[in-house]
Amino acid sequence: MGRKKQLAPDQHRHHAMEMLKATISGEVFVPGEAGYDQARQAWNLAVDQRPAVVVVAESAADVAEAVRYARSHRMRIAPQGTGHQAGPLEPLDGAMLLRTSRMRGVRIDPAAGTARAEAGAVWRDVTVPAGQHGLAGLAGSSPNVGVTGYTLGGGVGWLARRYGLAANSVTAAELVTPDGDRVRADADHEPDLFWAIRGGGGSVGVVTALEMQLYPVGELYAGDLFFPIQRTAEVLGAWRAWTDTVPDEVTSIGRIMRFPPLPEVPEPMRGRAFAMVEAACLGDAGTGAELTEPLRQLGPELDTFAMIPPSALGQLHMDPDQPVPNASDGAFLTDFPAAAIEALVAVAGPGADTPLASVEVRHLGGALARPAPGDLPQPTIGPSHLTFSAGATPTPELATAVRRDAQAATDALAAWHASYDYFDLVETPAPASAVLPPDSYRRLQEIKSSYDPDQMIISTHPVWPARVGA
Ligand SMILES: Cc1cc2nc3c(=O)[nH]c(=O)nc-3n(C[C@H](O)[C@H](O)[C@H](O)COP(=O)(O)OP(=O)(O)OC[C@H]3O[C@@H](n4cnc5c(N)ncnc54)[C@H](O)[C@@H]3O)c2cc1C
Repeated sequence: MGRKKQLAPDQHRHHAMEMLKATISGEVFVPGEAGYDQARQAWNLAVDQRPAVVVVAESAADVAEAVRYARSHRMRIAPQGTGHQAGPLEPLDGAMLLRTSRMRGVRIDPAAGTARAEAGAVWRDVTVPAGQHGLAGLAGSSPNVGVTGYTLGGGVGWLARRYGLAANSVTAAELVTPDGDRVRADADHEPDLFWAIRGGGGSVGVVTALEMQLYPVGELYAGDLFFPIQRTAEVLGAWRAWTDTVPDEVTSIGRIMRFPPLPEVPEPMRGRAFAMVEAACLGDAGTGAELTEPLRQLGPELDTFAMIPPSALGQLHMDPDQPVPNASDGAFLTDFPAAAIEALVAVAGPGADTPLASVEVRHLGGALARPAPGDLPQPTIGPSHLTFSAGATPTPELATAVRRDAQAATDALAAWHASYDYFDLVETPAPASAVLPPDSYRRLQEIKSSYDPDQMIISTHPVWPARVGA
């Protein structure tokens, strides 16, 4: 009997890749193949991801097959939905980029007031059907941001001061572990995984679906007030004082915004710069108008406040609705007093010549500052404010200038920085220890050591397994 012919390593890999392609219902691309460039493209067009293979999964079963393939070939895996936060990822050379972008199924259970979203769903996929039942999810400013990445890192949205971090409303997650096993993590199963995914990021497995609590919100009073940028110091000062008076039902942002002179920008804003206040107020129109009256007294040039369904909150912040090359920087703040306003105005106010499109400060506190029920990686958010600066980077010169100015805006507020930063809005390659409370990072290290000792999963803000004996 003749001996079985041994395959060379390259042939073996090729054969295994063909098997993977044949097994999954999604698609697999390697460099040089048609479709590879499109499949590896992140939402942030400034990021050039060059993985050894891209798997575009259609289902949890595809994800499990892809993880098993990667494990058997000692390949690391970067799970990704939209690629909104691809900027901080380490280089993907030799790795598998595992896209969940086609897994966008969402099921709303109106009776239970919950949603189940597959890992590739973006917030619009949840907020629109939830709204049809008078329910709201804890979405952030952009309807195009992925539910999974946003929620794994915490998720500070328009209802945050009333209902807390999105992560704290997760009731279950379905995952594929780095060993390739499909598991459900909830209050009764996989306690470590259930803890880790609710605000500790995506380092312990590949999420295939999340279940979350929704909240009864038929309509709410929300909008933007626009003032000429020359009034920035006055407007931010008045907004800051106002935030001390509002109930948890009000979540708001003080902002400096520069609109490009492009035809798609509405005429009143085109090519102009503004100081702004954006706010969402839970309650009826009368209460909302009364609450926002002190700001209206300032005499805004434009006032868009109205009763809107929660699904329309996605328009409030005017985030780009198409992928753009961009750079940004953000930090938690312990306060935003007059001296901080002055410092921010010096680098981003009317006298500044900057390509930053947006420099914002979000008001936290409320439910965010109170211990959330249960055991969580970000149980309370102590910092009172969150700053974030961003700009488009279509040329290398603009990329340099935007990065420099975003950093300058963060640095200008250094005296008020908290001891760690906000997971979801740090766009530089920082470890998870820089964006989580120290105790949570240590616990995450233990969990990482037991579920992913080989460091197979590449995640935004990585967790390095605790060293034995360390
Ligand atoms: C325009 C814009 C507006 C934003 N507004 C807000 C806001 O209002 N509030 C806020 O809190 N944040 C906000 N963010 C930040 C946003 O929450 C993060 O960028 C978030 O990570 C995006 O999630 P994603 O799934 O779209 O991104 P991705 O880049 O696809 O994912 C980010 C990371 O999440 C992890 N991940 C994603 N999917 C999986 C998975 N299936 N399994 C395991 N890990 C996974 C990975 O580590 C991945 O690198 C905003 C960002 C942008 C660009």
